[in-house]
Amino acid sequence: MAYLLIERNGMINVIEMNGCTDCVMYLANGDVEEPADGWSPEAIERNWPGYHVVVAGDENTEAHFSWQACAVCGSTLGGNRYPCAAWKCEGTK
Ligand SMILES: [Zn+2]
Repeated sequence: MAYLLIERNGMINVIEMNGCTDCVMYLANGDVEEPADGWSPEAIERNWPGYHVVVAGDENTEAHFSWQACAVCGSTLGGNRYPCAAWKCEGTK
């Protein structure tokens, strides 16, 4: 897994985490066809204000099933998890 990032002052902190299928579809496509009950993109904004959140795996990355809460939206529904990453955007607090 590799990231291409522009460093400023040598400080960029990438947080690696696992995201649910809905979050990954939304992050990758900007849309979710049939989101789980209660899922909404606002949850991502709420959990990660001022952060840029992306899908970190490539198309060959295999999902793994987990009951752990989705780190992106906070959903506690069990399901597939995919690698995601987040970093704070320039100019945000
Ligand atoms: Zn999620």
